Amino acid sequence: MQVLSTIESFRAAKAALPGRWGLVPTMGFLHAGHLSLVKRAKAENDHVAVSIFVNPTQFGPNEDLAAYPRDLDHDLSLLKSLDVDLVFNPTPEVMYPPNYQTYVTVEDVTKYLEGASRPGHFRGVATVVAKLFNIVGAERAYFGQKDAQQTIVIKRMVADLNLPIQIVICPTLREADGLAMSSRNTYLDADHRKAAPVLYRALTAAKNAFDQGERDGDQLRSIMRGVIEAEPLAKIDYVSAADATTLQELGIAPSPQPSPLKGEGVLLSMAVRVGKPRLIDNFLYQDGKWLTGELVNS
Ligand code: AMP
Repeated sequence: MQVLSTIESFRAAKAALPGRWGLVPTMGFLHAGHLSLVKRAKAENDHVAVSIFVNPTQFGPNEDLAAYPRDLDHDLSLLKSLDVDLVFNPTPEVMYPPNYQTYVTVEDVTKYLEGASRPGHFRGVATVVAKLFNIVGAERAYFGQKDAQQTIVIKRMVADLNLPIQIVICPTLREADGLAMSSRNTYLDADHRKAAPVLYRALTAAKNAFDQGERDGDQLRSIMRGVIEAEPLAKIDYVSAADATTLQELGIAPSPQPSPLKGEGVLLSMAVRVGKPRLIDNFLYQDGKWLTGELVNS
């Protein structure tokens, strides 16, 4: 496994390894969720590249860029054990040299949810992902369903800009109690860690209501809200029951949909502060079935 921190050295190392490439973009502090993407990429391609880059342009001024957890040595030992070919680990100056001034803006689907709560976030995400695609030149790139809106934004960008890459979405990996794995879980102290599965419980309650026939977006949101508000250590940023394609909220009068939940799918999602970290999670109902992720470590 080679670790490269400049664009030129990465391209030279990649050119020496012909075949089909899979790319897994990450911000490091790797956990089993990230590794599941790497394993899938290994299985489906001749070679795999993993990028580790805490991208400053996707963090707002009051967000946790400086505090974001980092442990490069541990990340590299995990990736080495999975036999990854190349790791791209650039500095911010390599990605954004002086006089840098070009950004990618995906429009409608970034207006809601994370895009509404974190202005500029998806401009930073789309920009860095477009750059990584151009630097790496992989045939496929792997993303987690955990960041549901991100998958929609990236797919939109790839289609709109005719980028020659296939996007593969992988299931959310969860701890045994349902907490979605996240690098930010490391911010949770013991009490908040105990409270954190409340997101999973809220999503499960709304899913159960949906499965019993509930089709009113307001009701689904209020079910999720009720579960979270019963946990004193949790503070809601947003809860959403949205059309999975447009990300517009379902069942708001006058409804943008002729009939709620008749679209291609439903995305139940939320952002909740549990002590220090702001946690996000989602369940997706698509093609008549739920994508709720996978419990591991149980
Ligand atoms: P990050 O390092 O947080 O930017 O995440 C890098 C990639 O890993 C993104 O595509 C995430 O959606 C994905 N990812 C993060 N957490 C999980 C998880 N628990 N299960 C599956 N994929 C994940």
